[in-house]
Amino acid sequence: MAKVSVDSSTCIGCGRCVAMFEDNFELNDETGTSQVKSQEGVVTEMSDICPVGAIKVVEETEESENE
Ligand code: SF4
Repeated sequence: MAKVSVDSSTCIGCGRCVAMFEDNFELNDETGTSQVKSQEGVVTEMSDICPVGAIKVVEETEESENE
């Protein structure tokens, strides 16, 4: 499963990610920047739609660390 994150210091608050993936992103009322709302159904394409590259998607492997 993939995990998405937003670099709020890079985000310019254009709202594109919110418009395209409204279930996963929302704009923070105070900062005006995007934040992750849900990790449900994250796809790698999400990192391509941000004009400033603030969205990162990391593929998580199924490897589990030994104790
Ligand atoms: Fe911010 Fe990128 Fe989303 Fe635009 S697409 S609101 S710059 S994270």
